[in-house]
Amino acid sequence: MRENCAVLGLVGKKSEAREFFCRRKMGTVDAMFSQELVGRLGGLGEKLGLGLKELQHRGQESTGFAVSQNVAIGHNRYSTTGENSDLNIQPVFGEFKGKLIALAHNGNLINTSQLKELAEKRGFDFSKIKIASKAKAEEELSDTWVILALLETSPLSDFIEAIKEVLPMLQGAFSLVILYEDMVIAARDRFGIRPLCLGENDDYFIIASESCALGSLGADFVRDLGPGELWIATRDGTVSSIWAENQELKICIFEYIYFGRPDSIMEGISIYLARKNLGRSAALEHLSSISGADLIVPVKDSGTLGAIGVHEETGISFDSEVLCRPHFTYVRPRTFIESDQGLREEAVWLKFRPILFDIQEKTIILVDDSIVRATTIPRVIKLLKNSQQALGKTVKGAKKIFVLITSPPYMFPCYYGIDTWRYFESGELCARNFSGDIEKIRKHIGADYLGYLSLESTIKAILKADLTGKMKPCNFCTACFTGEYPAPIENSH
Ligand code: AMP
Repeated sequence: MRENCAVLGLVGKKSEAREFFCRRKMGTVDAMFSQELVGRLGGLGEKLGLGLKELQHRGQESTGFAVSQNVAIGHNRYSTTGENSDLNIQPVFGEFKGKLIALAHNGNLINTSQLKELAEKRGFDFSKIKIASKAKAEEELSDTWVILALLETSPLSDFIEAIKEVLPMLQGAFSLVILYEDMVIAARDRFGIRPLCLGENDDYFIIASESCALGSLGADFVRDLGPGELWIATRDGTVSSIWAENQELKICIFEYIYFGRPDSIMEGISIYLARKNLGRSAALEHLSSISGADLIVPVKDSGTLGAIGVHEETGISFDSEVLCRPHFTYVRPRTFIESDQGLREEAVWLKFRPILFDIQEKTIILVDDSIVRATTIPRVIKLLKNSQQALGKTVKGAKKIFVLITSPPYMFPCYYGIDTWRYFESGELCARNFSGDIEKIRKHIGADYLGYLSLESTIKAILKADLTGKMKPCNFCTACFTGEYPAPIENSH
């Protein structure tokens, strides 16, 4: 189970008498946080729902939370596996020395099978989880359950000591948020591959996947949790320490390109500014090929800021409404998440409706952040090029489409939380299939020109949006473009 998700933790600064309560459900945050539930949970539950909603872009498949006393954690899950039992909805929950714990995870471990064996040796019975979740025997347990199993079976009697025992065993990407009694404990892997940040207001200490969750909670963004950091919060305050011996920041570069929300700041970098810079750099790298175009059109929403950057650099007109996105059509906002390819293709048709009147026979620069399986872009090109019949007249489509992608060719699978290893194995990674040959990819997608952004310029553009000046080119995981993983990938799944 490989997934990029959202985690959230809230620690109220006043004590509250509330029993441990955990609920997990398929569907979005709205589907979970009914008026009745919010009424039952009170202010803490309301804030939790609000914060999770702000992180919905990181996962829409399921949502879950746990509350106890004055503390709460929550999770939005993104997965492409299509399982629909409750088995892997998070937080997962269990017991430590008779006291309830809940655990939420963003990222993906790369040594899950070894850890599972170890947990079994320590006496953990994974079949009880499947039985409790009414899951089918063949369903794969997520790595998050394995972390929980290791905690449950720790020989140590103190929970924090048990966490410190287990963290060094975990290899791969993890931003963890754990609820235990009146504490929220958070930890980030030694490379800080997935984001995790801290916020605070008068009433709460907050830990969240992205800083965009903090605004609606009326909280200030305090800082990012460091790679290899362990953070413990109770109503009296917070304590931080470094659990990893050799921490070294390698945050996922794709968080800046696609995953993160533009109003988030990650490791001091404004995602908004980074995406505009990516567009500007892509325009500069391909200026001579695109300069004669009439209009810039983004593939919404992921290409919008890049397209604005292209517009700022070239002065060519920009129109984001040529590809209309009907808000009430039943399509989940991130079509990539659809697990079935047929569904995804249909979703792309439904997601965008072209308005051709102003682009008839014009040359368009179409901007998107990335091509992964090439489901989106060829269909969008067809939508913009095909003629339409209206009131007995023909409205012609665009004459030429130049495609600018504001990142390098996506060549290698991610084992650290973005589910692209499946497409690698099934031979669906488009750029990989053509060995990165741009001309072949161009023909495949049906564009008249195709330009990617070089890796060097991608990194430079993102670093230009660093508000603190602390980030260096070596601080990113660029494995999806280079195949160079922060740690060797063996037995990863
Ligand atoms: P594809 O249609 O498979 O080429 O997917 C690329 C489109 O999906 C782009 O428009 C991206 O904005 C978006 N996207 C790229 N990578 C991911 C990912 N790992 N998860 C979800 N969406 C993605």
